[in-house]
Amino acid sequence: MNKISHWIDGKLVESTSGRSGAVFNPATGEQTGAVDLATAEEVDAAVAAAKAAFPDWRSTSLSKRAEIMFRMRELVDANRKEIASLLTAEHGKVLTDSLGEVARGLENIEFACGIPQLIKGDYSEQAATGIDVYSIRQPLGVVAGITPFNFPAMVPMWMFANALACGNTFVLKPSEKDPSVSLLMAELLAQAGLPAGCFNVVQGDKVAVDRLLAHDDIAALSFVGSTPIAKYIYETGTANGKRVQALGGAKNHMLVLGDADVDMAADAAIGAGYGSAGERCMAISVVLASESIADELVAKIADRIPGVKVGPGNEAGNEMGPLITAEHRDKVRGYVSNAPEEGATLVVDGRADVPADGYFLNPTLLDHVTTDMACYRDEIFGPVLSVVRVKGYQDGLDVINANPYANGTAIFTRDGGAARQFQFDVQVGMVGINVPVPVPVSYYSFGGWKSSLFGDTHMYGPEGVNFYTQAKVVTSRWPDPSTSTIDLGFPETR
Ligand code: NAD
Repeated sequence: MNKISHWIDGKLVESTSGRSGAVFNPATGEQTGAVDLATAEEVDAAVAAAKAAFPDWRSTSLSKRAEIMFRMRELVDANRKEIASLLTAEHGKVLTDSLGEVARGLENIEFACGIPQLIKGDYSEQAATGIDVYSIRQPLGVVAGITPFNFPAMVPMWMFANALACGNTFVLKPSEKDPSVSLLMAELLAQAGLPAGCFNVVQGDKVAVDRLLAHDDIAALSFVGSTPIAKYIYETGTANGKRVQALGGAKNHMLVLGDADVDMAADAAIGAGYGSAGERCMAISVVLASESIADELVAKIADRIPGVKVGPGNEAGNEMGPLITAEHRDKVRGYVSNAPEEGATLVVDGRADVPADGYFLNPTLLDHVTTDMACYRDEIFGPVLSVVRVKGYQDGLDVINANPYANGTAIFTRDGGAARQFQFDVQVGMVGINVPVPVPVSYYSFGGWKSSLFGDTHMYGPEGVNFYTQAKVVTSRWPDPSTSTIDLGFPETR
């Protein structure tokens, strides 16, 4: 059995807590690993290593930091398959999806390679006579990332790439359900030349998280996970004087207008609803079908469902893997069982014909769902699409804007005016126009509104650089220089 430990100060460190969590292969149900669960003292050791590494790292030149990011970019690129198979083994998503996750994470390292340009300040010459004013951005110190199970490679990369490039040192607390990828990332960063102590991993649960929240030497926390925990992290972290960005759960709607291409909308609903077994914070879970095309759309989605190949993620050709745990699978099944009692129509029942082993549930389609039903209200986080029938644009928009979650949404239409109006009206952080999963590219920033994000700053991209730095403004006056030297060497940057 694989023993999964911490990474502190540039090396693997086994826990002395005597506590561990079981890690499973969700496709078979077999336990494949045991992950250490840190004590508060082990968290302290990781923070101390990061604190000790900070002065040198923040003094390291921008060129050198960029060089390390470029090397990390090459290493992740060269190890895509290895990262993806580790991810599939513990998370369950199919290999092609894991490769997609690595690619979207890698974008963030590529973005961070541009740190010399990204971190530039402003300069005003002669703000007053003989006085210049300029702004600089400086790192915060030791920052922490707490990440969810559903993107064990990409979400850490959303965080550590910018945090490190900006000159901070980092402590990662990955999900205890699929923790191995974090150690591979730590090894690759070390190979890329990142000094020991700059990137640390503490494996753990609430004990580790609470210690990070309370630790005086943690300047900022980035969190991605479910809404109740995001709220807790934000409230506790800010009460303890930390800068916090905490991204929460989602309930993403896809509004299909009467003029939409119904085949394209059905294809999109299948991909966005059942990709990664619906365990994506940007998955579509509600299809708002305009009355005039609702019957046709439901029929087309139902027709496509038997074509989705469900099975172990490591077998070529499969398109959808299992859910993360047996407990989560049972919870999702519970929503499917209850939906007809609440008045929904179970069009396709994913509980039938599932593989005997592992935590599988097949794609499920519910129709005539209304906004008071549990399957609508709650984030199900499984392969369940709920169709809510709406009269048209305004009715659909009202449903979306009344929902407490506001991560992503999409409109399907051929009407440019309606799409533009939707982008103007909708109270959601990330919007797709005929694009069902509008995850922004790494040079924009990622974040929802309302209960999908606590804090002011979205993640990665320009807002990520702002989050991981603080601004300083200098007002400067100099007498005429009286000293000068001659140097014929070619000016070097390091
Ligand atoms: P989770 O909230 O259960 O766990 C996230 C992290 O918090 C993990 O590292 C976990 O160990 C820790 N944690 C769990 N319970 C805790 C507690 N009581 N106290 C302190 N820490 C605790 O989320 P998950 O199940 O791993 O991930 C799925 C959730 O994440 C979904 O709700 C999904 O929508 C959300 N998510 C959101 C985004 C986004 O960008 N908004 C992205 C990915 C996932």
